[in-house]
Amino acid sequence: MSLQEIRNNYQRFSNTKLLRIAENDAKELPDEVIEILKSEITRRKLGDHLIQAIDIVRKPITEEDYKAYYELLSKMPCPYCNSKTAKNNVTMVRKTTSAIIITHRTNKPKIGCSNCLDGLHRSANIHTFFLGWWGIPWGPIHSLRTFYKNRKMRKRFNHSNQLDELFVAFIQANIVALESNKQNEIALGNVIRQLNS
Ligand SMILES: [Zn+2]
Repeated sequence: MSLQEIRNNYQRFSNTKLLRIAENDAKELPDEVIEILKSEITRRKLGDHLIQAIDIVRKPITEEDYKAYYELLSKMPCPYCNSKTAKNNVTMVRKTTSAIIITHRTNKPKIGCSNCLDGLHRSANIHTFFLGWWGIPWGPIHSLRTFYKNRKMRKRFNHSNQLDELFVAFIQANIVALESNKQNEIALGNVIRQLNS
């Protein structure tokens, strides 16, 4: 497809579709296509923040960036208990919920101090224990898997106190929100609480 064809396509796309491209594909698209995307965003006045977000997503995250983010995020007050003494870690919390024949699972990243992350795993397990098992056939299977995985995550990541792979993945996944708010502690705190919810 020629650049002119791409430009014509982008002009036909809805705002939602352009936003989706900016969000999901900006990292992989070639420079010339990014310029077309940016000029279409500017033409429609969709906002400078979107152009900045594209630039952030396209900039490689260096080792130094990861370390700087780790320093910043691990030393912030815990988003759950506000403790400033314990370091924050990142973990994954699973939950299983059954409703007769449907069994629904969630697996979400959470950032907080070790005690609070342990507490999240405990309440997810209690939830799963009471609400997870009774969907047939998947309820019991997914419930057992949830207990097993939560235990693994708790042991491996809740008390890690270092830049581990889940912390790296958390920074990668949320780079736009983090980069846009890193200068402002209150805004960054709000972003973290939102990401945890
Ligand atoms: Zn806490």
